[in-house]
Amino acid sequence: LSDKLQMTMRRLTGRGKLDEKDIEEMMREVRLSLLEADVNFKIVKSFTQSVKEQALGEKILKGLNPGQQVVKIVHDELKKVMGDEAEGIRFKINGMTTIMTIGLQGSGKTTAIGKMAVWLRKKEKKKVLMIAADVYRPAAIQQLQTIGKQVDIDVYQEGLIDARTIVKNGLKYASENKYDVVIVDTAGRLNIDEEMMQELKDVKEIVKPDEILLTVDAMMGQEAANVAKSFHDQIGATGAILTKMDGDTRGGAALSIREISNIPIKFSSAGEKMDSLEAFHPERMASRILGMGDMLTFIEQVTDNIDEDEAKNMMEKLMTDDFNYNDLMKQFKMIKRMGSMSKLLGFIPGLGAKLKQARTAIDDKQFDKMEVIIKSMTEEERKNPKLVDQSSKRRERIAKGSGTAVSDVNKLKEALETQKKMFKKMASMDEKELERLQKDP
Ligand code: GDP
Ligand code: MG
Repeated sequence: LSDKLQMTMRRLTGRGKLDEKDIEEMMREVRLSLLEADVNFKIVKSFTQSVKEQALGEKILKGLNPGQQVVKIVHDELKKVMGDEAEGIRFKINGMTTIMTIGLQGSGKTTAIGKMAVWLRKKEKKKVLMIAADVYRPAAIQQLQTIGKQVDIDVYQEGLIDARTIVKNGLKYASENKYDVVIVDTAGRLNIDEEMMQELKDVKEIVKPDEILLTVDAMMGQEAANVAKSFHDQIGATGAILTKMDGDTRGGAALSIREISNIPIKFSSAGEKMDSLEAFHPERMASRILGMGDMLTFIEQVTDNIDEDEAKNMMEKLMTDDFNYNDLMKQFKMIKRMGSMSKLLGFIPGLGAKLKQARTAIDDKQFDKMEVIIKSMTEEERKNPKLVDQSSKRRERIAKGSGTAVSDVNKLKEALETQKKMFKKMASMDEKELERLQKDP
């Protein structure tokens, strides 16, 4: 595949802009790659279609050829679908946090519980109790006990009596003995069946879990997504754990699960060792699914450099007097792409990390609103901020046009001024003063 890919790319090299043909050519490779990763074909179709629409007409970044540009867009979109940030466990603010696991037999529930208990103890300093409520196989209880002994985590069990009773008693025991987190191991079947679902519903009713984590065997491929959907439709999962990621699967299941059920994937589990549970990394997963490792590394390097060039230009502009709303808009766009204001400021030579954080004049979250406001300004106003400063009529009109309040427009106006002031001050400082600022912002 990779040879074919390179050939396609070579053919594409040298063209200036993404047209339909470029995209179609590259999309064929992307589609194949996703299918090879065992992503459900319907999802491959809808996903590539939406990316295609997005890519059409997009400018090709300096240093990339059209093929690489398409792959970059696909990769960014995959990351977005997978969830931008890894989500951890939602703990109860007061009292004992309860976690319930669900999933087919053999999907890795019991193993994942042991790993999660270790993770919670190590990373979150929690006292954890595991409750053995898989009462259909004697071996299941023993398995949990063995794991418990191995990693030194307590297990509550009453043998093969009714799961509901065990869970009730177990919770009582946990709160009497001041455990921070309780994880309930439940029974799964090889196939989804009514009785199992009913038992899980009952257990859910009793536990009132803060998290219902669905274990999904990544090796199952696209079938995993359908199983996940049935569990989710009936029990409602708050997150998924992707297990058996140490296998050679590319993990297309992750994409299918997100697209079909929209369950956030919280952990990935790889291997038999009890410390092999990791917070889920959308970025890594996106790369693994796409399976174009070398090219992605290359794209990342190139785009990092572009960011650096652009950021430096922006900084120079910031330090002059004529910084205006158009520049501010560009800055927002860059920040959105790069992640944060702090990162942007990181490109100014001689500024310490502390200063970078301390001097972020605008809350990163406000950007969208600010952009809308700037878009409601006339070109003249954007170029000449004084026009906005001097006329409250203009500010009222801009607020109305952007569906915001005059106070929001004033905030934006202040943001521009604050930035100008701050950077002018920095521009006039000599080396020594900058150094002092770094130590004590
Ligand atoms: P459960 O039936 O859902 O509780 O699944 P288990 O935790 O008992 O796991 C079923 C089988 O898969 C066991 O043989 C585990 O050792 C194995 N297993 C679980 N997690 C992983 C993993 O991340 N990687 C590998 N290679 N095997 C795993
Ligand atoms: Mg089990």
